Amino acid sequence: MKHVSCLIICASLALACSKKEPTGTAAPEPSGKHASAEVKPGSYDDWCGEHEVPESQCTQCNASLSAAFKATGDWCKEHGLPESQCKKCNPGLKIVRPPKAGGGQ
Ligand SMILES: [Zn+2]
Ligand SMILES: [Zn+2]
Repeated sequence: MKHVSCLIICASLALACSKKEPTGTAAPEPSGKHASAEVKPGSYDDWCGEHEVPESQCTQCNASLSAAFKATGDWCKEHGLPESQCKKCNPGLKIVRPPKAGGGQ
């Protein structure tokens, strides 16, 4: 009698699907360019770095602000900006960011 027992079954089931993705606990970051809604108008933090105007007056970020400018006649129809912010019409215009307040001198 001969026993032929050469059946080796290699089952590699355990190696399947064990994908691991790095856990994303990152909260949505506030964009660095725009001020949050909580800043004090006229403060250093009240600044739109993208459009270089106070965020509280940035009609490009907040279209609903434009009505107030239009109401006072401060509006450049051509460029869709308050005239007082329109550098295309007023090349010499400089809107200066308010200085940082607090933190000593
Ligand atoms: Zn803006
Ligand atoms: Zn203009």
